[in-house]
Amino acid sequence: METSRRAFVARGKANLRDSKALALEVVERCRTLARFSEDSGSTRRTFLCPAMRDCHREITSWLVPLGITSRVDAAGNLRMTYPSVEPDAPRLLIGSHLDSVPNAGAYDGILGVVLAIALLTALEGQKLPYTIEVVGFSEEEGVRFGTPFLGSRGLVGTLSEEVLKRKDAQGISVHQALETFGLNPAEIPQAAIEKDTLGYVEFHIEQGPLLESIGHPLGVVEAIVGQSRLEITFIGHANHAGTTPMNLRHDAVAAAAEWISAVENHAKYTSELVATVGAIQVKPGTGNVIAGEARLSLDVRHRVDEARKIAVAYLLRQAEEIAARRGLSVQSKTLLEQQAVPMDPFLVNQAAQAVGQAGCEPYRMVSGAGHDAMIMAASVPSAMIFLRTPGGVSHDPAETVAVGDVAKAIECGGHLLNQLANSAEFLRRTQHA
Ligand SMILES: [Zn+2]
Repeated sequence: METSRRAFVARGKANLRDSKALALEVVERCRTLARFSEDSGSTRRTFLCPAMRDCHREITSWLVPLGITSRVDAAGNLRMTYPSVEPDAPRLLIGSHLDSVPNAGAYDGILGVVLAIALLTALEGQKLPYTIEVVGFSEEEGVRFGTPFLGSRGLVGTLSEEVLKRKDAQGISVHQALETFGLNPAEIPQAAIEKDTLGYVEFHIEQGPLLESIGHPLGVVEAIVGQSRLEITFIGHANHAGTTPMNLRHDAVAAAAEWISAVENHAKYTSELVATVGAIQVKPGTGNVIAGEARLSLDVRHRVDEARKIAVAYLLRQAEEIAARRGLSVQSKTLLEQQAVPMDPFLVNQAAQAVGQAGCEPYRMVSGAGHDAMIMAASVPSAMIFLRTPGGVSHDPAETVAVGDVAKAIECGGHLLNQLANSAEFLRRTQHA
């Protein structure tokens, strides 16, 4: 608190409200928004469902006393503008998503939007040399149309005709959903961010156990990992489980098991690599028959694309070696190759400094999951700050945050806004990355 107040004093005004009181309000508001749901008894808020309109209405009611104007853009994003000292100043975006998975918690995405509004509240009318635009993205989870990031794609101009044609389970297209909500899909190009956008900052719960395990309330994201997804099939010979001696078998499940252990070991002893075999299908899949075929999924993630590719190549060689030794064959198919997305080094450093100013260890980490910042980073310098997630639990009603951690995030955000307001380097960066 004290350090936060000092930072704002440096700008001539002591105007940060008690961050703990603001944090309590943030948590309460997140819980209020969780009630706007398509399902009774649990939270589910997908792209432009009627509950999203109620969610927008509730958020807009908080803006009135702050004198902040808002609009819903043609991609369904709630855009809230806090004016700067000069009318034509460049703008900083802060936001996250307002949609949710089914049976969701109250904080994934929502917290980043509500916390951004708390930062505006803390400014108490003080104008900065840049406009702040808070964005509540319409869609990030990909639940309704099987395609994620509809909202942020609208901002970076990649919400294509092909995506607009996608249909939900009821046969309603994205295009129709927009019109039903009272929006005009033809105006989507106007939803794109302006050339004078300085950057995008997203606060988000970590959704994992790392920060809790090392005792840090906040983490600074340096990169969103790239990922490879493959399908690996071991092909042996199905045979009788009673009559086939052990040395004459070509057991696909035994080969798969050996390989799964190799995958786990390789990831365990390779820095920052995570690798997962999450699904296995066995043929014929009967207790008294030696398996003739085992089909496995492989998910490999790393912040460095080259390291990920080397790991995938190594694991495929391991599969071939295991198969050859056991007299089996192996096939592989690549299903997804997604590049890692580094966050903007300048904003990352600024975020780390702000975390330190808030009295926390500026712990740098990667995000193992995708976020709106990943899409925004293609067009504008982006950064993410993670909040510790108790138990690492997310996408579940048990998802929670500690009020003290939210207070730290608010202090960090206040310092970040102040640092950027005082940074000539930042205010010069109006080009798109
Ligand atoms: Zn999220």
